[in-house]
Amino acid sequence: MPAKLPATSFVTSSPDIGSCPPPSLPEFALIGRSNVGKSTLLNLLASQKALAKVSATPGRTRLINFFLINNAYFLVDLPGYGFAKAGKKDRSNLESAISGYLLERPSLYNTLVLIDSRLPPQKIDLEFVAWLAEIARPFSLVFTKTDKLNAAPAAKNRADFLAAIAPNEPQVFATSSVKKTGVGELRAFLSSAAKAPAPPPREE
Ligand code: GDP
Repeated sequence: MPAKLPATSFVTSSPDIGSCPPPSLPEFALIGRSNVGKSTLLNLLASQKALAKVSATPGRTRLINFFLINNAYFLVDLPGYGFAKAGKKDRSNLESAISGYLLERPSLYNTLVLIDSRLPPQKIDLEFVAWLAEIARPFSLVFTKTDKLNAAPAAKNRADFLAAIAPNEPQVFATSSVKKTGVGELRAFLSSAAKAPAPPPREE
């Protein structure tokens, strides 16, 4: 019998940490550069086609979006970082909404940082990961679009990225939303991590 698809509902969009829903269940945030494949992966994780709109315009997602999965945890869709099209003011508003959420949210279990597997380590991704490590928030790496290149260069990009963020050793996933590889593994990680105790609160 095929595995039961997750029951998903869209809960809310919040412009900042102050208007997020009460922290009632474990949360897993997804973040990455615009166009990394975040909306597509989110739709697959939630098994719903049009849940997070696959955007044609980079940087169009402006809010923190909450999706409830199986009544067990939230997937939290954060705005993509590093898009050139947003104006300076917009960008700094967004950045403070994202950093406010990542710094302060008590129910944030893990942040999935999405990285384009085709590229060698990018400064903006490395800087973001270094910041997460600095604020001592748990994170994992998800290398996306693995169907677009051969295994050897993909493995090299991954290894180079991990070498660049040493001594941090986050859990690593590799996904293709086209071939649907790695998605089941990621889903299994989320549902098992959601059953674990919450990570300790951040120390000031
Ligand atoms: P977002 O801006 O990070 O939300 O990225 P999207 O999910 O909108 O995807 C950006 C583009 O990459 C779209 O054209 C997707 O169809 C494509 N895309 C997303 N994931 C994959 C993947 O795993 N493989 C391939 N080949 N294309 C993908």
